Amino acid sequence: MTSTDRRVVVLSTRDIPGDREHVVHNCEDCACPVSGERAARELPELPAAPLLRAREVVEVPLEPGYFALFSPHGGGGVVVVDTAGRELLETFAEPTPASSVVAGSPSLEQAIRTLVGFDVLHPVGRPPAPVFEPSTELTAWLHVTNKCNLRCPYCYVHKSEEAMDDDVAKDSVDALVASAKRHGFRSLRLKYAGGEASMNAAVLLHLHDHATALCRDAGLGLSAVLLSNGVALNGALVSALRTRDIRVMISLDGLGETHDAQRPTVGGKPSSALVLRTIDRLLDAGISPHLSITVTNRNVDGIADVVRMAVRRDLTFSINFFRDNDCAASFDDLQYAEQAMVEGLDRTFAVIEEVLPRRSVLGSVLDRGQLVAPRRRACGVGDDYVVIDQSGGIAQCHMEITRVVGNVRTDDPVSAIRSGQGVRNLLADTKTGCRDCSWRNWCSSGCAAATFRATGRWDVQSPNCGIYRAIYPRAVRLEGLRILRYARRSA
Ligand code: SF4
Ligand code: SF4
Repeated sequence: MTSTDRRVVVLSTRDIPGDREHVVHNCEDCACPVSGERAARELPELPAAPLLRAREVVEVPLEPGYFALFSPHGGGGVVVVDTAGRELLETFAEPTPASSVVAGSPSLEQAIRTLVGFDVLHPVGRPPAPVFEPSTELTAWLHVTNKCNLRCPYCYVHKSEEAMDDDVAKDSVDALVASAKRHGFRSLRLKYAGGEASMNAAVLLHLHDHATALCRDAGLGLSAVLLSNGVALNGALVSALRTRDIRVMISLDGLGETHDAQRPTVGGKPSSALVLRTIDRLLDAGISPHLSITVTNRNVDGIADVVRMAVRRDLTFSINFFRDNDCAASFDDLQYAEQAMVEGLDRTFAVIEEVLPRRSVLGSVLDRGQLVAPRRRACGVGDDYVVIDQSGGIAQCHMEITRVVGNVRTDDPVSAIRSGQGVRNLLADTKTGCRDCSWRNWCSSGCAAATFRATGRWDVQSPNCGIYRAIYPRAVRLEGLRILRYARRSA
């Protein structure tokens, strides 16, 4: 916190001790990988060149006298200023040497360095430019079974009794580890999925143990998450997950009837009570599950309730929008209207504002986007994301799992997904509608598969564009309020 004789206040996440741990860096929901994670931010020395206010800085009012600032062409993160801090910023509407403003005040110097560090101010001739961190982690979705005990209408899997066996699991791990080494990745992230992956628990655990041994020998880092509907995780499996440090993502789309309306059992029965019981069981065992909330037209009015529960129980969560697919096509009540989605998210944001958790929601509430680190694509499809089906077939995206581009027994997985002709995951700044939009490095144009499904084109903005533009400034506000509360407390 910077408070000077001019009473200038400039706050950032740097003023909240240990704040990097309060950000969700990996969206666990649909297994879309998040490439890049912002490093701990160091403030620059006071530049000698005259400073200028950055263009298109988003300014959102907070409580009276305070404002959140976000520089969309920079490296991410929000800064909070008071009225005097805002006036300080206006000093730099024209190129002005910092030294003439600082006039020997250490706290003013700190305030200006923070504004430069968060790309709100910049030296003349050197406007902020996003740094896209190269990917060092290979993420693999392992589709260990086609079976499921639920029948969610938005699911893209044609259910069957087919499941991965030990041989395919072993060959898949062998191929992934060799491919990760060959292509220079430093770590492997495995997502155990299906169907309901826990219905093939024995193979999943063997697979994981094999991956642990192989990664250790190969000098690769390993992390893993079970993507589960949370209906039937028994005590033995929970304990095995805990022992192996496998994270758990549970799908929960609302509380009670809201969840049940779109996640019924095979027999059409409600499942929410079973899921809540599993969450308790996991917490009792020392596993804090991540909640994935899929929003459709059916549950849009109820997501605020499940988010309130998550925040109160200090559970991480991510909100993702329903993506149309062939299996869901016969359910015409899933498609949401833009206005209804914005209003539902508004209510959700109001709940978060009321509770105002210490944990940031910048990586949780923006569908495929986030405001943590700039990204040129919403996911790693075609680059650092491999899908392996129950037979060892390689695909680029789990939504396109039947479009096989290779097999683990004959092909190098990373080469196969990079040369595959399926999903065209274009850079956001090459897409019509996005290339001149200041949010392009943050929504990253949304899900490529969903855009193609809605428009028949890969090279245009997301069908959720209007929603993104409406909610991003509101997320900036939430982050500003959080910084204001917790930075003040720690000051
Ligand atoms: S999808 Fe919309 S909000 Fe996102 S970059 Fe493209 S035009 Fe901007
Ligand atoms: S294309 Fe869409 S569904 Fe597939 S991994 Fe990327 S964001 Fe997820």
